[in-house]
Amino acid sequence: MKKINKVVIAGGTHGNELTGVYLAKKWMKDKEVLQRRTVDTDVIFVNPKATDIMKRYVDQDLNRSFLLKDLSNESLDNHEQKLARVLSKKIGPKGERNQNFDFVIDLHGTTSNMGVTLILDNQDPFTHALAGHLQKINPMTRIFVDADATEDAPFITSILPRGIVVEVGPIAQGVVDAHIFLETEKLVYQMLDFINEYNLGNYISNKKELDVYKKIKSIDYPRSDDGDITAMIHPALQGKDYSKLKNGEPIFLDFNGNEILYQDEEDVYPLFINEVSYYEKGIAMVLTEKMEIKI
Ligand SMILES: [Zn+2]
Repeated sequence: MKKINKVVIAGGTHGNELTGVYLAKKWMKDKEVLQRRTVDTDVIFVNPKATDIMKRYVDQDLNRSFLLKDLSNESLDNHEQKLARVLSKKIGPKGERNQNFDFVIDLHGTTSNMGVTLILDNQDPFTHALAGHLQKINPMTRIFVDADATEDAPFITSILPRGIVVEVGPIAQGVVDAHIFLETEKLVYQMLDFINEYNLGNYISNKKELDVYKKIKSIDYPRSDDGDITAMIHPALQGKDYSKLKNGEPIFLDFNGNEILYQDEEDVYPLFINEVSYYEKGIAMVLTEKMEIKI
């Protein structure tokens, strides 16, 4: 397999997720800590304009702006649409054989209680081996497989065939939290160490399975006809990302105190519970199934 010699780290893809913003700023001043014998790493502070106004984005979600059809449509000219084209050229270009980087690490924070989560949105065996290694050295590392993701996904990681999303929380938007900053920083160094060992041929896989949470579907808050939410995440579910949810257990509580129950025979594991930036996307939580996948 082709070696992973050029890695790019994206921080601040969402302007108000400050873990990635400040890691990117730190590393731009000192890229030495990111270099490994066989790995040359660059870092991008992705959307400074969004960070200036302390918002997720200026005009639209950048991390939904990387579909090939959108990147090739020059008439799309809002801030994130233009930025997506610039980033695709710099990192990829997406869809081309000769690309500027071999692997992308995209740093995010979530307001949900998800701890350290790696999001896999490709089927690449190297990326799966990396995730397996990280799960082995830290069993609390969770892996979310976004089953919706196809070859042409709208995410920044889709620019390259290989990449991973790091999502660490809970953290409020616009806040730096030292614990989460240090955790994310350590994880990136562990990834770079692994990539180096892999390039040197020192990686021997004795892990054949990956414990993952695979997306089934997302569900929205109950809403009125005009789109306003009519219920909240139930207090018994708030913060319970990755816990098993069974038939008959409460998921929402309306403003008059009425419980709304989960009604399905199949046990699920919700995550991204009450993520603030998903209110606008119509997502109250993402339901997943827990499974092992072969790597
Ligand atoms: Zn994000």
